[in-house]
Amino acid sequence: MNIDLSRRGFLKLAGAGVAATSLGALGFGEAEAAELAHVRGFKLTATTEARNTCPYCSVACGIIMYSRIDDETGKKRIVHIEGDADHPTNRGTLCPKGAALKDFVNAPTRLTQPRIRKPGADAFEPIGWNEALDKIARALKDDRDANFMSLNEAGVPVNRWTTTGFLAASATTNETAWLTYKVVRSMGVVAFDNQARV
Ligand code: SF4
Repeated sequence: MNIDLSRRGFLKLAGAGVAATSLGALGFGEAEAAELAHVRGFKLTATTEARNTCPYCSVACGIIMYSRIDDETGKKRIVHIEGDADHPTNRGTLCPKGAALKDFVNAPTRLTQPRIRKPGADAFEPIGWNEALDKIARALKDDRDANFMSLNEAGVPVNRWTTTGFLAASATTNETAWLTYKVVRSMGVVAFDNQARV
């Protein structure tokens, strides 16, 4: 866990705290109150923790995201992200990209829903998740029905589908990756890759 206090700052504060406490014991209660007044509140107070995986690369480091209700919007907002010390891959560490994840999550330009560019259009427009999934399923089915090849020219069984490719994410669990591989390969897709190569 990152504590936003340098070693020098900690020693200074600890020394001041001892002095203030001693003063308090001698009857100088106001000195202690003044000392406490300028100690900043712990920034993760009242936050909710959630475990997740850094989405940037195939290392798939474990992260902990801290969120709390935003005073302005009344909605939950992620206020801090740090490496998960219990995660076997990164043991709490993050590279500079992972360390900057909070800004990526809260970026105003971040896509939060599917978008479509219709035939002939020059711009994308937002659509719902269900509509997007239906369209993708329809397009896959139509293309596979039209182009799936069970035998090659020599009559040898090949069961391949070469007109559609599939790009998967690398920041998933082993179980999700295994299932994705099985589904995609069982449909006969040959062009299958993932973000780990980017
Ligand atoms: S923190 Fe860095 S190394 Fe780890 S998954 Fe994210 S981008 Fe990859």
